[in-house]
Amino acid sequence: MNIFTFRDLLEHFPYRHVDKTSVNTIADINFQTEYIQVAGVLLNVEITGGKTARRLTAQLKDKTGFLELTWFQGINWVQKTLQEGQSYLVYGRVSFFQNRPQIVHPEMEVLTTEKQDGKNFLEPVYPTTEKLKARSLGGRQIAKLTQALIAQLREKDLPENLPPAIIKQLKLVNRFTAYSHIHFPPGIKEYEEAVKRLKFDELFLAQLRMSLVRSTRHRFSKGVIFDKVGELFNTFYKNHLPFELTNAQKRVVKEIRSDTARGRQMNRLLQGDVGSGKTIVALLSMLLALDNGYQACLMAPTEILARQHYETITELLDKLDIPVKLLTGSTKGAARKKLLHELMEGDLKILIGTHAVIEEAVQFRRLGIVIIDEQHRFGVAQRARLWQKAEVPPHVLVMTATPIPRTLAMTAYGDLDYSVIDELPPGRQPVTTVHRFESQRSRVMSFVKAEIDKGRQAYIIFPLIEESDKLDYENLMRGYETVKGYFPEPKYWISMVHGRQPGAQKETNMRRFIDGDTQVMVSTTVIEVGVNVPNATVMVIESAEKFGLSQLHQLRGRVGRGADKSYCVLLSGSKLGNEARERIRIMCSTTNGFEIAEKDLELRGPGDIEGTRQSGILNFKLADIVHDRSLLDIARSMALAVLEKDPDLVSAENLQLKEFLQEQKSPIIWSKIS
Ligand code: ADP
Ligand code: MG
Repeated sequence: MNIFTFRDLLEHFPYRHVDKTSVNTIADINFQTEYIQVAGVLLNVEITGGKTARRLTAQLKDKTGFLELTWFQGINWVQKTLQEGQSYLVYGRVSFFQNRPQIVHPEMEVLTTEKQDGKNFLEPVYPTTEKLKARSLGGRQIAKLTQALIAQLREKDLPENLPPAIIKQLKLVNRFTAYSHIHFPPGIKEYEEAVKRLKFDELFLAQLRMSLVRSTRHRFSKGVIFDKVGELFNTFYKNHLPFELTNAQKRVVKEIRSDTARGRQMNRLLQGDVGSGKTIVALLSMLLALDNGYQACLMAPTEILARQHYETITELLDKLDIPVKLLTGSTKGAARKKLLHELMEGDLKILIGTHAVIEEAVQFRRLGIVIIDEQHRFGVAQRARLWQKAEVPPHVLVMTATPIPRTLAMTAYGDLDYSVIDELPPGRQPVTTVHRFESQRSRVMSFVKAEIDKGRQAYIIFPLIEESDKLDYENLMRGYETVKGYFPEPKYWISMVHGRQPGAQKETNMRRFIDGDTQVMVSTTVIEVGVNVPNATVMVIESAEKFGLSQLHQLRGRVGRGADKSYCVLLSGSKLGNEARERIRIMCSTTNGFEIAEKDLELRGPGDIEGTRQSGILNFKLADIVHDRSLLDIARSMALAVLEKDPDLVSAENLQLKEFLQEQKSPIIWSKIS
């Protein structure tokens, strides 16, 4: 369980406390009951169900009735440890089987007379594992060890680490008290105070550390200097920009310019909704590098995307004489050798590519900026390798594919600077989104047909949660056959793309759709990110209830990219859970990615938000940035205020804070590496 030291044990927090004062009776259970604690005598312990549905069942009897207890796992061990006729205190989640209440895998504790007296205290319950339980290290034993540990600790062992002013302002209990009360609180109020204090510690220290990284970079990092806006940038901006930049784009370009001119390394996160025009910002940043005598690199997560960027950018730069090349896994032999040589000589100015650009053999002469598109697809180690490619670290611009709510971005990427394009280019027609049931499929297909007959193209997306999942795969194949039934050759041609295809085949099928040779694209979510086919105006999402919000938003972002009115149809089964219904409702009511991201955060919690999973910083033990949002805001503003007054933490009031930070081996802050 990752407990190696006394500190680890101390920070192995109970996930709840049993209130020994409130033992219910079995008769209290009704259909609304979720968790319950009851006490009674154990009867009829037996194994039932034969080979296939083997389980252990028992009855608990108190003076008001019987409750069924069931185990599916660890049957032999449970049977060995339980004793018929013994009184137990039983806790667990109530479920109903054939209208009778039962508890599956209840927590069981022998009821002693002392406990029956109902002493007034909250007993901690700790996470543990079946294996540990089998070796007598269940929750109760962990409680005993923790109790022994805390009894030996003195206040000096857990000295205060926060500045006194903050403690006073927030009325926080001291650190020592917090640690002992979170395990063994005298009452609910003391428990809550302890939790608040320790949550604040987590949030505040994380914010402080990341802000320190950021301010240290701002003050001391070395960075290549882009101090002039030169000929390429100006010529392109004045003569070849195909449209006027939106105000948001202008603002972000300005932020990047001032950030790269200072002689400090830029490490910036650029957020913008799908279609907000991040590519042109990337291009302008690269031209800035070139004007200052540096090379630039743009990295995309897939070959298709890299190629699309390459095509877009070479087209935009058509009138300017700038060497741009594409490097992917399929760049081989002499062409690759030549490219690498030109790169090393400095003749090649802009390199666009996939992971291939971070291979050992790829060496730049003077790399000035690296732009990473749709960053969450890149592993952390991969990003670190790019970083090592220059003596003075290149500027880094990370562009996200999915908007992340601001709070989350600030928390997960507090060490990065942050820009946002919060405005779409003018003239975009919002995609009309509707929800239809599968029973209406043929009407939906007629609609798709009408669009295709107008010369447009359509996506039909099937869920493939795990590319390896056989059922999903068969589902996709059946779906493909159905679609073929509606769109027969040779009047219509269909492309199909999924994760099981070899790369080259995927590429070809995609290509045919991009080139307009096929009208329908049947696909799994592999097309989710970035693909740009402006002629596609319909997106049908099959089994839409199975997709998460941000995924639906990403998928919908594939249409509405051209001048024509676009549509998104969410097809679903007739039975929808509450959350799925809510997701679909939100999708039909807004096209704003940031709004959707906020809702997603509320519905799912931070752990699942795309793009943050690898940001170790969200692994708080106690705090939860959705529920503890207001505490997070306070922690963040206090961390910033502390650093603003005392950036090196040298003043007397920050002394203990500084010592504490230095003492703790600092956790790796992953996002820093980008
Ligand atoms: P994303 O932010 O999703 O990467 P892109 O950079 O691919 O978006 O831009 C989406 C589309 O919008 C492109 O076709 C691009 O040419 C166009 N576009 C970008 N900025 C503007 C603008 N200021 N005015 C008009 N069209 C724009
Ligand atoms: Mg893009």
